[in-house]
Amino acid sequence: MGYKKPENRGLGHHLSVAPHMTASQLRRDHWTISTRCPRCHLDCWVDLSVVIRLSGPQVTLWNRWARCRRYGCPGRMVFLFTPPGEPKGVFWPMHDPPEARVKATISDDPEL
Ligand SMILES: [Zn+2]
Repeated sequence: MGYKKPENRGLGHHLSVAPHMTASQLRRDHWTISTRCPRCHLDCWVDLSVVIRLSGPQVTLWNRWARCRRYGCPGRMVFLFTPPGEPKGVFWPMHDPPEARVKATISDDPEL
């Protein structure tokens, strides 16, 4: 087993490591991060260098939210990601779906 470039590791790999990736790892492997406000639908790119400067390189974005950037909107922005090697504009949510948590509690499968 040799080194594999991040863009060649495959979607399954990326989805399994996404919850554990720190901001500095996401930046190193060229993940695309954005935020979306479910209330006003504002989309913003996330500059990981800014995140690292403000919160440190070890911060993780999984299951986190940020206050909406639009004036007067009380919404909470959720993080979205595109792993390296995936098409631009295709995003996955950066949090556990409720159904996955249910699945994990009723199954002994260590992959879940
Ligand atoms: Zn908003």
